[in-house]
Amino acid sequence: MSWDKIGIEDKLLSWHEIMEAEEYVYTVGVAGEEFFNGLKHKKIIGGKCPKCGRIYVPARLYCEECFVKNDFVEVTTKPYIDTYTVVYKDDEGNKLEKPQVIALIRFEATHGGLLAYVEGEVNIGKEVEILEYKIPLIVRVK
Ligand SMILES: [Zn+2]
Repeated sequence: MSWDKIGIEDKLLSWHEIMEAEEYVYTVGVAGEEFFNGLKHKKIIGGKCPKCGRIYVPARLYCEECFVKNDFVEVTTKPYIDTYTVVYKDDEGNKLEKPQVIALIRFEATHGGLLAYVEGEVNIGKEVEILEYKIPLIVRVK
């Protein structure tokens, strides 16, 4: 590990160390646990700010606008395609048998979004149906 950073009074701060790690194990945190437990029950769990009403997907513990602790709520608004890309090769550069569409799915009246593999005629703004509740989601265009 090695990096430089500008500190107070424009003085350069430096750290030079060696960090060896073969494997990381870490928790998903309180909000992540609510979110992933929701997926197990075919639910999308968001974090709703009790002050401004903003709903975050996936769930977040705190509202970034109000700095207050969110409540966990099930998101039931319509999921739709915000943006997408088409993948033609795997991560080793081999051509896929069939191109794979990957999209950012958003839910009406919420902030944030989830990645998904998409089946069907993809287009920005199209509503989708969630087929599999995992990360990435598997969705089909309605
Ligand atoms: Zn808020």
